[in-house]
Amino acid sequence: MLQREPAYPEKGRSPRRTKPVVRKRRFLRFLIILLGILLLGKLLNEQGVVHNPFRQPASVIGLHPTVDAKSKELVALAGKRGIRMVLTTGFRSKEEQDGLYDQGRVTDGPIVTKAKGGHSYHNYGLAVDFALQASDGDVVWDLELDGNGNGKSDWMEVVAMAKKLGFTWGGDWENFPDYPHLQMDFGYSIRKLRNGHYPSGSITGKPTEAKAKATDHS
Ligand SMILES: [Zn+2]
Repeated sequence: MLQREPAYPEKGRSPRRTKPVVRKRRFLRFLIILLGILLLGKLLNEQGVVHNPFRQPASVIGLHPTVDAKSKELVALAGKRGIRMVLTTGFRSKEEQDGLYDQGRVTDGPIVTKAKGGHSYHNYGLAVDFALQASDGDVVWDLELDGNGNGKSDWMEVVAMAKKLGFTWGGDWENFPDYPHLQMDFGYSIRKLRNGHYPSGSITGKPTEAKAKATDHS
């Protein structure tokens, strides 16, 4: 009987020929795993789950243009209904927020916020606070006031108009209702914002460029 050559060489029969193939496969597998890890890291960073220590994100230093435009539109709409509303706060820097957080805790005065610096939508230019102006010109936080005499609370009329413009109202928050507060989060969580991911159109720069002044409310 004639011993036939096997059609396929046995494994490891010719190490010089198969080894580079195995090495190449291992390298490819390593590359795929590395790419997967990098993509997963990028995704988690964008979702705000993990923080990239090498990334130094720019700070938001002003009110988002859409929030700015819509809040001004709200003032105009309220004016047409005979309601004089005023915007008391827009953008607030993280440092100003820290100062406000200390009020009632470290410094004198009532507690007005539960948010530390970086934890308020004001710090990302995505929130405004409003109040009403009474007939004598005083700025008031009066939820009952019916200055235009139509039998409805002016405050709640403003809130209804604000919601139509796309704002969410702090008064709807169950754990810490914030009646003067209106915000547009554009689907961005505080965690995501804290990781330096901001809605498009956000005004960013060095924190020293921020000019806004701190006032009350979170
Ligand atoms: Zn607020």
